Amino acid sequence: MSEDRFETLAIHAGQDPDPATGAAVVPIYATSTYVQSAPGDHKGYEYSRTDNPTRTALQTQIAALEGVALGSPGGCITAASGLAATSLIGHLLKPGDHLVLSNDVYGGTFRLFDSVLSNYGIQWSAADLTTDAGLTNALRPETKLVWVETPTNPLLRVVDISRVAATANEHGAMVTVDNTFATPYFQQPLDLGADLVLHSSTKYLGGHSDAVGGAIVMRSESLYERLKFMQNALGPVPGPFDAYLFLRGIKTLAVRMDRHASNAGLIAAFLEADPRVDRVWYPGLESHPQHDVARKQMSGFGGMVSFIPKGGVDAANSTVQRTRLFFLAESLGGVESLIEVPASMTHMSVEGTDLEVPVDLVRLSVGIEHVDDLISDLDRALG
Ligand SMILES: *Cc1c(COP(=O)(O)O)cnc(C)c1O
Repeated sequence: MSEDRFETLAIHAGQDPDPATGAAVVPIYATSTYVQSAPGDHKGYEYSRTDNPTRTALQTQIAALEGVALGSPGGCITAASGLAATSLIGHLLKPGDHLVLSNDVYGGTFRLFDSVLSNYGIQWSAADLTTDAGLTNALRPETKLVWVETPTNPLLRVVDISRVAATANEHGAMVTVDNTFATPYFQQPLDLGADLVLHSSTKYLGGHSDAVGGAIVMRSESLYERLKFMQNALGPVPGPFDAYLFLRGIKTLAVRMDRHASNAGLIAAFLEADPRVDRVWYPGLESHPQHDVARKQMSGFGGMVSFIPKGGVDAANSTVQRTRLFFLAESLGGVESLIEVPASMTHMSVEGTDLEVPVDLVRLSVGIEHVDDLISDLDRALG
């Protein structure tokens, strides 16, 4: 069907005109409860922790973009943040279960498993999932989940999703892919064999740095039922106002991602050619260690670039304080460019662990401003 292309689904999936009024945009259903005509006789909505029509529309939209059409098994579960979504998945595990985390996983994901879920008897270990041996050595008889982030944050390592999924599934472990950096526009983990896709919708899906949210997508009906139960039982749901912001942001995901990626590619090339820069990480660069894997499983390389300026921590710290267009801030994926030093900002919680990142690493979230202005800004800031 020609109407199921990505750009079209972003604008139409789950977003039919409102049957009551004809409103072209899904309304913000600011209601906690729904009137019933007789006890138990309702229109599919009883209470907004369980279901809310604005949230339903958002879930239909995100599921469609990850390749799960309305009416097919599975679907999308949204949550109040990416970490709330991670926590819902964490609650599928039981005491004694073990999970493998890709090393340099998002700091908050690490902290949740290391400092919270470990208190409930869930064990974890970190592994380099860019190599086959990294995964096979980390698997234990009780391994139930392999947590892949690709590209990883902030070192932009690329993990071969189909290889990891084949090995993990053979072992009886599920695979979650954190698809926050690539977005479904550039990478479709379910097609590559992943069981669950996780998003911090806060980033590219929302795209405007104005809301915090998370999502999980799956093709398995039983996983969907279990996570739907968790969503209602644990309760970390997004409100209808946030759901509306994500619905609106996602409509332009395709056009934004094209620009993020073309800007990031040009900036990565500029940095790689600059003598003031020691090393650059961008999956689209031929010098990237997993460039071939990236080309195989991604249709574009995203908007994140990391680099180490010559001159150590001092150079990194002064560079990030001298940019004007790149705001010095945590987070990523918005239309505006951001710059940060992960070791002293987003990744403080992994200091002293296997997931530690270089102290002089600078991470860019390349926005959709004019690329020449962004390059001038970096050129000036590198001093
Ligand atoms: C931000 C982020 C998260 C956590 O999401 P929140 O919305 O901040 O809770 C998880 N994974 C990645 C890759 C992220 O960038």
